[in-house]
Amino acid sequence: MSDTIKELKKELLSGNKNGYDRMPQGQSAAMEAYCADYKAFLDAGKTERLCVAEVVRLAEQRGYRPYVRGMAVQAGDKIYVCNRGKAVMLARIGKAPLSEGVQIAAAHIDSPRLDLKPNPLYEDGELAYLKTHYYGGIRKYQWVTIPMELHGVVALKNGDTVSVSIGADPDDPKLVITDLLPHLGAEQNKKPLAEAVPAETLNLLLGSRPIGDEEDTSRVKLAVMQMLHEKYGIVEDDFTSAELEAVPAVRSCDIGIDRSMIGAYGHDDRVCSYAAFRALMDLEEAPVKTAVCVLADKEEIGSEGVTGMQSAAFDTFMEDLCQSQGVPVRACFERSFCLSADVTAAFDPNFPDVFERRNAAYLNRGIGLCKYTGARGKSGASDADAETVAYVRRLFDGAGVIWQIAELGKVDAGGGGTVAMYMADRNITTLDAGVPVLSMHAPFEVVSKLDCYETYKAMKAVYQAQ
Ligand code: MN
Ligand code: MN
Repeated sequence: MSDTIKELKKELLSGNKNGYDRMPQGQSAAMEAYCADYKAFLDAGKTERLCVAEVVRLAEQRGYRPYVRGMAVQAGDKIYVCNRGKAVMLARIGKAPLSEGVQIAAAHIDSPRLDLKPNPLYEDGELAYLKTHYYGGIRKYQWVTIPMELHGVVALKNGDTVSVSIGADPDDPKLVITDLLPHLGAEQNKKPLAEAVPAETLNLLLGSRPIGDEEDTSRVKLAVMQMLHEKYGIVEDDFTSAELEAVPAVRSCDIGIDRSMIGAYGHDDRVCSYAAFRALMDLEEAPVKTAVCVLADKEEIGSEGVTGMQSAAFDTFMEDLCQSQGVPVRACFERSFCLSADVTAAFDPNFPDVFERRNAAYLNRGIGLCKYTGARGKSGASDADAETVAYVRRLFDGAGVIWQIAELGKVDAGGGGTVAMYMADRNITTLDAGVPVLSMHAPFEVVSKLDCYETYKAMKAVYQAQ
């Protein structure tokens, strides 16, 4: 190739995208340290409630304090509001007034899982089980024959709340959903994947040892209920007012002999949540504009509900802040920017048919921007305008963030949504961006360390924008 052609190519065409060729020298150690902290965060917060508790614990360590309506705030202040123990909003007050807008990173901390039904406990075939109702989009066949743990709360009639945790410690017993043996699987094997494991067979095995005498009935059920009563002081009717979530009993770990990836339950969307949160914690000076980190619940079922992104809890938080400076919240929102930080699908060479290679997100190419998500003709997408994408290009390039732009799979292959449209509905300029994930929504998902760290850098750039 002649030098002129080489130069012309460099000037006019896109270059190599692999992040390892573009990563600054000496970034490896910081990336590894960050990912070690992220793994600890994942293992501490496998449900939205546990995640909120961990966020609050870490934020308090960094000097963040609960915000109370009417409190005066000044540049540099570190505040947070916890929404019913299931979502949290944090802010670092900037030097500029709120009338100039805020810089928001919004992610979600709920992940696909199996919730217990209101009447979960039963005995069949002299075995005790818990009935579940899946939460979020799962491929049911992936959730059988893996060790599971149970977390959540039982709210008692007297107003007390009991925390339940079974299976989190390595020595704890685990729960499991059994599956058919291949020897007897001939009929099941003929079924389409989506039908092979019906939702009503996702029952957690809880016990097998009876109490009492031969002539007694429901002896196994009674035995496990007795153990639950001893440990938590609950009776069967208390399941009615409980939120108990079964999640995979796996710890996060490095993947690949080069240790370049992380495997874990719940990367979607704790990988972006942690980046958004940690970047806020690591802001040394007060930012120019107020930096806001929103960690929402209920994204996986449509962002509905009082702890979801559609809830007025966020507007109330922002209104209270704005009121302390005498600024109408609508004037703040119209000048604000939000990075809707949620994971995207990483190109999987095992399943190339569902991706369009020229517009797929790849592992190790950095944070993936998505101008739009949605399905079919962009249905359900916020679809950021070109100017917003240009703003983020400028922001990320200025901060040395490695990024890519992508769609979630081939057109008409499926689709997905995020909290972006609910931020955009508030008249906040919003763009989707997040970490590419392999096996998204599976009990064990994979991300690349480089992408995790670049996403953290990206969040910092959003908060530090002038
Ligand atoms: Mn998500
Ligand atoms: Mn999801």
